[in-house]
Amino acid sequence: MASLNMNGTLPELAEQQPEDPIPESRILIIMTGGTICMRPSPSGFVPARGFQEQCLARVPTFNDGSHSSMMNVVINAAGEVKGHSSLRTPPTAYGRRVRYTVLEFEELLDSSSIDAKGWAEIARTVERNYTLFDGFVVLHGTDSLAYTCSALSFMLQNLGKPVILTGAQAPMLELQNDATDNLLGSLVVAGHFMIPEVCLYFNNRLFRGNRSIKVAASDFAAFDSPNCPPLAVTTSMRTNVNWELVNRPRSLEHFRIQTNLDTTHVACLRIFPGIKPEMVDAVLKLEGLRGLVLETFGAGNAPSGQDNAMTNVLAAAIKRGIVIVNVTQCLTGSVSPVYAPGMSLSRAGVVAGLDLTTEAALTKLAYLLALPDSTPDWVAKQMAVSLRGELTEVSQPVFRHPDGALPERVQSLTVLGYAIAQGDLDRVQEIVAREHHWLLNDADYSGNTPIHTRPPTASCGDIPVH
Ligand code: ASP
Repeated sequence: MASLNMNGTLPELAEQQPEDPIPESRILIIMTGGTICMRPSPSGFVPARGFQEQCLARVPTFNDGSHSSMMNVVINAAGEVKGHSSLRTPPTAYGRRVRYTVLEFEELLDSSSIDAKGWAEIARTVERNYTLFDGFVVLHGTDSLAYTCSALSFMLQNLGKPVILTGAQAPMLELQNDATDNLLGSLVVAGHFMIPEVCLYFNNRLFRGNRSIKVAASDFAAFDSPNCPPLAVTTSMRTNVNWELVNRPRSLEHFRIQTNLDTTHVACLRIFPGIKPEMVDAVLKLEGLRGLVLETFGAGNAPSGQDNAMTNVLAAAIKRGIVIVNVTQCLTGSVSPVYAPGMSLSRAGVVAGLDLTTEAALTKLAYLLALPDSTPDWVAKQMAVSLRGELTEVSQPVFRHPDGALPERVQSLTVLGYAIAQGDLDRVQEIVAREHHWLLNDADYSGNTPIHTRPPTASCGDIPVH
């Protein structure tokens, strides 16, 4: 087994230069576009190429000035390998350096234009280079970052390495920016911690990707994951990982990807006061629609409509095979049938999306609907199950009869419970009267017991004390 050296660091990797005792992690940065690499143009900020040379090579925190060795990167489906010049960070607080190279996509996007094709390109790039790197950092615009994180979390299966997505509210080349910290923090996480999840790193916090949402249009604290604490938080000196929250694979399976999400047949609709059943019906009758995310009020409530017209519209669509998932418009909390309107949705067959974000619900639906042999019933069931930690499952209490004989005390209590549940007052009285030694006739803190002075005619509702 590898042992730590005097500095508490791991021993050198095999390919390490003998004269450099500090170990290196190898990270592939995948550049998809977004503000982080943008420059001003006459038509507003647009993504620009040459991120590694223009933005990173000149900055000491991203380049320790050492000889730039080449890193092999697989660049296409044919498995063609190309040598990319690399850069290396100075030693981190953990006594490692991070060696990395940037692979720029052919077309750099403002992330508001990304779709399932772009997600598939990211997934394929990770898959092709999976064995060559210790982890991956994906640079992406912030606008649709939460959708991409959610989609990738489902597309990357049996993930065994960190995939950290980040971006910035201000470009790297702006004097005051958040790009430097977001990228450096992502590199450190990907290069040091075995967090085998798709994560979003922003403003010193590492979120589970499929739990995150964009909460601010211009603040540096642009993301949050209101229903799941951060997986890690970076302070001035270290990154503290909340290991208990980190998901790990539960079986030994090869990493693989699923790329054909069915995003063209899903939609999202936000309920508002006064929404007409005809509007909802029109969406549900869109040609080819297979799944709908319904953003409802509070704990999952929507108007039932005059004479239940809304509920009928939803029920009819579900009968036609459309999967409808109920998520809340609130930032925190879960959908549950607490109120009558929520209950009638679930009776109509609408799936409770629990505490799924809209982003996770939509991308999960698109992922499940695209799986071979998926049926609406199966998809509906999977929507309430956590596949990648995207929701908090509701644990239902299970009532069952014990297998063996019950201890006497528990037996009395159980029999009493049944008698109460059945409203059998005579039986309740009989059981209570029979219990002379313990349990039901134990004295309370003032010495009172229910039985001793019980008049023969009293009913169970008015058993006197004393
Ligand atoms: N419109 C930009 C994008 O999402 C915004 C950003 O990156 O922050 O690509």
